Amino acid sequence: MKHYRAWAEIDLDAITHNLSVIRRRAGSGVHVMLVVKADAYGHGAVAIAHHAVRCGIGSLGVGTSAEALELREAGVRAPILVLGTVVDEEAASTLRHGVEIGLHSSDRAAMLADLAKQLDTQARVHLNIDTGMGRLGVLPESALRLFEEIQDSPHLVLAGVMTHISSARGALDETALEQVRVFERTLGQARERGLLAGRLHVANSAALFTSLQPTYDAVRPGISAYGILPGGLPGAEELQPVMSLKSQVVFFKDLPAGARVGYDSTWTATKGTRIATLPVGYNDGVSWRLGNRGEVLVRGQRAPIVGRVSMDYTTIDVGHIPDVSVGDTVTLFGRAGDRCMPLEEVAREASTIPYEITCSVGKRVRRVYVGGEEPPLPSQPPPPAQRSSLPQSSKPQQPTGPAASHELEQNTTDAAH
Ligand SMILES: *Cc1c(COP(=O)(O)O)cnc(C)c1O
Repeated sequence: MKHYRAWAEIDLDAITHNLSVIRRRAGSGVHVMLVVKADAYGHGAVAIAHHAVRCGIGSLGVGTSAEALELREAGVRAPILVLGTVVDEEAASTLRHGVEIGLHSSDRAAMLADLAKQLDTQARVHLNIDTGMGRLGVLPESALRLFEEIQDSPHLVLAGVMTHISSARGALDETALEQVRVFERTLGQARERGLLAGRLHVANSAALFTSLQPTYDAVRPGISAYGILPGGLPGAEELQPVMSLKSQVVFFKDLPAGARVGYDSTWTATKGTRIATLPVGYNDGVSWRLGNRGEVLVRGQRAPIVGRVSMDYTTIDVGHIPDVSVGDTVTLFGRAGDRCMPLEEVAREASTIPYEITCSVGKRVRRVYVGGEEPPLPSQPPPPAQRSSLPQSSKPQQPTGPAASHELEQNTTDAAH
């Protein structure tokens, strides 16, 4: 493989594997919405979305309308939901491209209905109920009114009802069970009044892997597809790591005892040793907090990061590794042949969570995709994006009529098996 200063190797076969684990856990008939926000947690949203659709994933969740439009421009035609919400400026383009939006207030419902009317379309919304996350979402006591407002507007379509679990330990935390009870109560009231429609979805990765019940109609995993589970939850061993951050030795020198390395001279050689310099720094995803703490893999061995991590460079002590040379590949996390530098360990050393590490892999780090050439998983019908009856991504999309949306439901439900 061609070497760059720094590159993130992304193993699409590992994604295929992780998605099959996710689908098995979700159970047959449950729709899987793969979350690809923040550029697919740093993995490259366009490539990941295309691959996921090939693997039969039914829909995609993003963080912003710009992310949704990037996918549409790249030809992704699967349903896309802006999970949180849009800001006013983003609303029109979101609707024009048939992107679904999380909804949590009457004001926003009115605004979207007006805008959809002007654009002669319908806004497909997922009503987000705040059952304890305290961030977005309508409080349960105001939810019924919002259900009614959606029902009453010819320009709003209730495509789903969702809530978000706050605990990173999913069903292992009582708070998650309480959130589900509140969600159930609110759904019950809406159902009684005939206001319920669309897909019901709750589970992120932690909820899915701790079997939070009920599963509802759809699940929204993100991090598990990338091979990681938060907080050492059970089931992590079934998943395969996807991203490996690599760089190469650009320079090394032998330093005598007493020599200092890096900004603020936070590291001093206690004996003569060899220091190698890597052209990768905190702008590339090597956390500043790994200075004098982290380790990397070189020639199959661990080497400690010494001194501060700087913006463009990182220094490692390779005094104990014979024959290190310029051009040697260095693995900052992920796989190196049959060795591995676990992302979870790197995150722990950096006092953060794995999500932040992959998301902070900078834009000058080349993403190199490997694998993914195999055909879609066995027993997968063609993904919805290949059905000719669906709207073209390049054209402004009309709302899907009853027939079209039925077909979409069929396809995406099939695809979730
Ligand atoms: C990010 C996000 C998810 C996915 O969470 P993971 O922990 O990565 O599985 C699901 N739902 C919502 C609303 C999110 O914002």
